[in-house]
Amino acid sequence: MVLGQLGSRISGALKKLHEKPIIDEEAIKECMSEIVKALLQADVNAAYIKKLRDQVMLQVNLEADAAGTNKRKIVQRAVVSELQKMLETDKKPVKLRKGKQNIVMFVGLQGTGKTTTIAKYAYFYIKKGWRVGLVCADTFRAGAFDQLKQNAAKIKAPFYGSYTETDPVKIANEGVEYFRSQTYDLIIIDTSGRNKQEEGLFDEMKMLEKTINPDEVIFVMDSTIGQSCFDQAQAFKNAVKVGSVIMTKLDSHAKGGGALSAVAATQSPITFIGTGEQFDEFEEFEAKSFIKRVLG
Ligand code: GDP
Repeated sequence: MVLGQLGSRISGALKKLHEKPIIDEEAIKECMSEIVKALLQADVNAAYIKKLRDQVMLQVNLEADAAGTNKRKIVQRAVVSELQKMLETDKKPVKLRKGKQNIVMFVGLQGTGKTTTIAKYAYFYIKKGWRVGLVCADTFRAGAFDQLKQNAAKIKAPFYGSYTETDPVKIANEGVEYFRSQTYDLIIIDTSGRNKQEEGLFDEMKMLEKTINPDEVIFVMDSTIGQSCFDQAQAFKNAVKVGSVIMTKLDSHAKGGGALSAVAATQSPITFIGTGEQFDEFEEFEAKSFIKRVLG
């Protein structure tokens, strides 16, 4: 189920509740059961759905007992607030500062949109006047270097990489040193993706993290992969210190549930979302407006 459908199913369930002449426990349960079904079909992790339902019911009981207030409004408010909570964590993303040589390492599986996202992310900071350098430490995929090089040229950012070197740690180190010596504000490392989660990939990520000691590790996740978002996010989180998440492909066929699951799995905030293939199709993420957009 795509994101828009999830939103209209939830809005529909709330609207149906609004239209009921009497809002009793049965009506609220019916409404919540529809919302639960919609969230399940959108690939939200079941444990988080249960928590949402329990919290909404608790809220309804607490508030309605207190003052006989409007139960319809309480349900609506509680659903929105619980969805928002699912997308937020107490953990705040690392605040990068201009003038400091921030090192950011990107991780994620092949095809998720990592290389495109790096260009978008770099462009976001370039537009703010930052000096940004890109390092290609993906020595696994033939063509990775060319792709980053082309993207770098489009956004007019310098890049560091090699056609012949096979050791990603060596390249990452050299690249970081190169941009550091020239006092760049932001040094971004593109890492190998592979096409599945495998030990070799995670060992490489760990080694890179240990050597370059990044200020921030960003996990890039394809929002269209559905239920496997949770496991994938958790696997990366277990290997490296994921500080924040960027969700890609939240445009036409996006599954909203993946976003919810990624936050749950990594307990890391989503900072940006990708909404298309172009470099400016990139937005800062804000849970409240995201939920509003989903619910229409
Ligand atoms: P990588 O293997 O993870 O580095 O992935 P790429 O950056 O090569 O992207 C894989 C494909 O996804 C490319 O065709 C990109 O244009 C596309 N892509 C990346 N981000 C987005 C996005 O936000 N929306 C859409 N629709 N496509 C995207």
